[in-house]
Amino acid sequence: MMNSLPQVWSDSKSSHHSIASIDTKSPIAQQTQEILLKSTNIKLEWIRAHVAYSGNEAVDVLAKKATQERIPTYIPAPRNHFKSLLQKETIIRWQKEWDNGETGRSVHNVLPKVKTTPTPWQRPEIMFLTGHGPFPTYLKRFNIRSSDSCGCGNLGNPLHFSTSCLFTTSYHLTKPSPDLEPLWWKRVMNNNNSRAKIRKLIHFIAENETLLFPKDGDNN
Ligand SMILES: [Zn+2]
Repeated sequence: MMNSLPQVWSDSKSSHHSIASIDTKSPIAQQTQEILLKSTNIKLEWIRAHVAYSGNEAVDVLAKKATQERIPTYIPAPRNHFKSLLQKETIIRWQKEWDNGETGRSVHNVLPKVKTTPTPWQRPEIMFLTGHGPFPTYLKRFNIRSSDSCGCGNLGNPLHFSTSCLFTTSYHLTKPSPDLEPLWWKRVMNNNNSRAKIRKLIHFIAENETLLFPKDGDNN
């Protein structure tokens, strides 16, 4: 139960160095520094009193018991270890929230798994997938327009412009049947050629907004 005194002294010495160092990387030394800063009545000799205090003695007993029963004792792990544990936990929680959320379901369909690396998509493709772009459906939602119709009379959403609008035929992709729409989005967003076409389509719509869907009042 009792460590030999020189060993304790040596540990204490290195701890002492670590605690005294302003840029110590040791989490324990940092915590000790915080405690010492807050409590001016604690002296560093407290560390040397390892064998004399009942609380510390109890810790020794438990540690010995754990070793004898082959339970691994608690070893202060390096910062990176905790970092990776926290990162894993963060991903798990984020994934749960993403799976059970209510917003961004069109994106969830295409990107069901959360990840910390960004997608290779550019802004126009993100506008297309989320619907947050120069589309009558979006502009109406934010009260920029009073109608969500395209100039051709149909509902002006991304799918309309990319598959059926008469004004955008050169940018059309094959139209999916309604039951295959989720799959269509996945395929389109994961295909380089389709995404290139979408980028051109979004630029075309943005540049020709006033022709494609005239301002309110002009068309009714
Ligand atoms: Zn149209």
